Amino acid sequence: MTSFTTPAVLQLGTDIGTSARVSTPVISFDQARELSRQYGTPTLVVSRSRLSRTYQTMKSELPNVEMFYAAKANSDVSILRTLFLEGSSVDVCSYRELQSALLAGFKPDQMIHTHPCKTVQNLMDCYNEGVRWFTVDCSGEIDKLVRHTPDVNVILRLAAASSSSLINLSAKFGCDPADAATLAAEAGRKGLSVRCMSFHVGSQCLNPEDFRTMLVRARQAWDECVAAGAPLEVLDIGGGFPAPYRTSVMSLSDYCHHLSVALDATFGDLPIRIIAEPGRGMCAEAVTLITKVVGKSVRGGLPWYFLDEGIYGSFSGKLFDYSDFELVAEAAEIRPRSACVVAGPTCDSHDVVSTDQELPELEVGELILVPTMGAYTSASASGFNGLDIARIVEID
Ligand SMILES: *Cc1c(COP(=O)(O)O)cnc(C)c1O
Repeated sequence: MTSFTTPAVLQLGTDIGTSARVSTPVISFDQARELSRQYGTPTLVVSRSRLSRTYQTMKSELPNVEMFYAAKANSDVSILRTLFLEGSSVDVCSYRELQSALLAGFKPDQMIHTHPCKTVQNLMDCYNEGVRWFTVDCSGEIDKLVRHTPDVNVILRLAAASSSSLINLSAKFGCDPADAATLAAEAGRKGLSVRCMSFHVGSQCLNPEDFRTMLVRARQAWDECVAAGAPLEVLDIGGGFPAPYRTSVMSLSDYCHHLSVALDATFGDLPIRIIAEPGRGMCAEAVTLITKVVGKSVRGGLPWYFLDEGIYGSFSGKLFDYSDFELVAEAAEIRPRSACVVAGPTCDSHDVVSTDQELPELEVGELILVPTMGAYTSASASGFNGLDIARIVEID
């Protein structure tokens, strides 16, 4: 048996041995200055080599698992194209995500559609482009497919309980595993082929043992569905692979190794295809934000720094995704650090990026780097207050 780190230890951010993975920028401050001269700020820098390395690490530790990158995390063509060239497939939930994937080079037969509750328009638009794998988790969605697209391959989504995930993705979707066979039988009676079973352990799942717990439950549901006549041939283990923010996480290769062992133990005896839908774990670390200090003041005895990017922009992940982004200042090792407030550029008082990070005294014009800015950042940014959404620039 391999050793295993408990989530409590991970959450404390204390010693997690050789396995720790910390948040690191994809560029140096010298590169950031050069890029900001060229493109201005705020700019999100996508490192193709960092993204490729993540893909290759996942593939080497999980050689029998096909990757369907979850476009929801970041559907920018810079990310999608690199993953396409690496040999990834893609998971889309809408027609616009599908169009971005097409633009990046993916063909519809490299796509699965994983939205359990889609509009008929969404369903038909993606079907008409050639997508043939669609997800259901209840009778109503089965009936939608029977009515509009009876010849598709059905993915039956199970709800998953995960103790160590930051974001529960089963609060809204997924059937109770105990009901899976009943739903599969209903789909079969209505002429559909349930060929895939899926689940999502929750996003930013710190503990790979949560996958094992869910895999055991999924195997039971799988056997019940097969006994009920479902032609299951694909297991989809979803996403959930974590990324390091201000808290470090287990190394990607160790994490995937734990997962691989759990897959072997639970589904290793079946000659099936196994696929995964990593979003955050694939793209988060490949992107670093360059933002600039555009103003400073002292309020209530504390220094306040105003950046040209905030929670209506790339820091939207702080609000919607509960991500705690680390702010990296160049002078952090030189000038003494102190408590401060770092705020975004809009007129909204709520637009505050950090209140609990100590930074050196900053001057207007200084650059701040923010690593791990690839997932659920620009994807949920808006142009509120008439400000531009951060430019995205690719580097090798
Ligand atoms: C959001 C989502 C993903 C990606 O999840 P991550 O935690 O970012 O890896 C994968 N599959 C489905 C169905 C999702 O909704």
